[in-house]
Amino acid sequence: HGDLNDENVLVEGDRVVGVLDFGDALKNPLVCDLAIALAYLLLGQPDPWDAGARLVEGYHAARPLSITECELLFPLMCGRLAVSVTIAAGRRTQEAPRDAWFSTEDAAWRALEGYVEVDPVAAADRLAARIDVTPWPDRGAPGAELLARRRARFSPALSVSFETPLKTVRGRGAYLYDGRGRAHLDLYNNVCHVGHCHPRVVAAGRAQMGRLNTNTRYLYDLLSEYADRLCATLPPELDHCFLVNSGSEANELALRLARAHTGHRDVIVLENAYHGHTTTLIDISPYKFDGPGGEGRKDWVHVAPMPDGYRGPYRGRGRDVGVAYGQAVGRLVERMERPPAAFIAESLPSVGGQIVPPEGYLETAFRHVRGAGGLCILDEVQVGFGRVGTHFWGFQQQGVVPDVVVMGKPIGNGHPLAAVVTTEAVARSFGRTGMEYFSTFGGNPVSCAIGLAVLEVVEEEGLQAHALEVGTTLRDGLRSLMDRHPVIGDVRGRGLFIGVELVRDPDTREPAPREAARLVNALRERRILTGTDGPHENVIKIKGPLVLGEADAALAVERVDEALAELIR
Ligand code: PMP
Repeated sequence: HGDLNDENVLVEGDRVVGVLDFGDALKNPLVCDLAIALAYLLLGQPDPWDAGARLVEGYHAARPLSITECELLFPLMCGRLAVSVTIAAGRRTQEAPRDAWFSTEDAAWRALEGYVEVDPVAAADRLAARIDVTPWPDRGAPGAELLARRRARFSPALSVSFETPLKTVRGRGAYLYDGRGRAHLDLYNNVCHVGHCHPRVVAAGRAQMGRLNTNTRYLYDLLSEYADRLCATLPPELDHCFLVNSGSEANELALRLARAHTGHRDVIVLENAYHGHTTTLIDISPYKFDGPGGEGRKDWVHVAPMPDGYRGPYRGRGRDVGVAYGQAVGRLVERMERPPAAFIAESLPSVGGQIVPPEGYLETAFRHVRGAGGLCILDEVQVGFGRVGTHFWGFQQQGVVPDVVVMGKPIGNGHPLAAVVTTEAVARSFGRTGMEYFSTFGGNPVSCAIGLAVLEVVEEEGLQAHALEVGTTLRDGLRSLMDRHPVIGDVRGRGLFIGVELVRDPDTREPAPREAARLVNALRERRILTGTDGPHENVIKIKGPLVLGEADAALAVERVDEALAELIR
């Protein structure tokens, strides 16, 4: 029928005697008629689920429903209402609209807004409450069982997020779905940069997997096409690239490049930095070597202060803070017994606590490092590819050009791809050592196709500008909570790279790590996914997919407000 709403059914007593309006009839699964009838029936009912269960009961008595049909009823109802409000919105733009066109519009919107909160599996259970369908099909192992199986099979070093870990079965856009079909807003995963399972990226990978996958010892167009496109996003000096499989591999290679080019070995890093999980990268990651299980600092590693404008020795120094922190790098260089091979930092330190380095920092630090013969490596694994909004690369906000850029995470939207881009001079020095460079998977045609699709999507969907816009809304919204919730000490960031620092006291700025952990868990219960970071684990880290919408940002602010009100009274 296609529009089996209650206005199209003729009833005499308690008997249906006719059906009107066949103008929408089409060839479609039969269960759609029931879903459409339900969509309208439930609007404005005092007990909508019971009303729905009665209709399902009646329908089932005449034409038995399968389990799959029962499961589809709720999503189909939502689909119908979404179509209905969309058509109504379209008709508003027409001349001489008729009142009848909008008779259910308000009620449909109210229902849809309520349905967002409804667990689809629970909805199916409620609609089928009065009928006898065989048990629901297995929806995979429950989270608790998976956790036990994981513990039996993997080292305890493998961690899992949240007090109640989340089992995910599907991802789309800025949302992750659990085994019951419930949507969770992902504010955390900066890997799925253009959105979880972006159809264009998935299609590019799938098509190339079916066509050719080899390695860089063969010639194929995609390698150069991708390298050209990637280098085009960078300042012209950075024109030689290496493709690898992970951020760690990329940072390892960046260190080798710096050592080959300078002939030096020592490395300057930032406090609490993290650059990867290999042996050498643990050595240059204070977050690891000074953390649990760490073996301390090696003598060739030198730690510079985190350029944090909210905390630290230069708090309150206004416009000079960046230069002061840069000069601290200079003093460190002077104290070193050997010249540095490299200074390595994230352009905007993420693991260090979602820090936005104050103006002038990188320029000053670079001057000192280069003056001593070292290279400047910037790790853009977390912040690159348009996330910061105003620029494609984080370092562009500081007006500097590094010698080496390291890329990872977002570069393949979840596919294992990473890159190192450097100058011709550095690439040549590396070649002069005579050692062949080869990575089996690095730069394979499938990775290149996926990387290319990511770059195209960022550009064509205008995601950099979008990150700036929606990131600003989100940051402003979170800032607006500061009056009501003094536990929020600072809200900072650029684009969709945002940190919310929690403190016990706004004046002393004593970190509030326990409150931060509780907030992250409370948000998870409200289906908003975040995490903590920073040396005190008191910074809520927000860096989700760039496709986050304005309504998502508003929802996030509302949920943070609610969660804080409940947690911290
Ligand atoms: N650099 C930074 C700044 C990172 O955050 C990470 C991963 N969290 C890495 C490098 C290492 O990347 P991967 O896990 O892909 O090896």
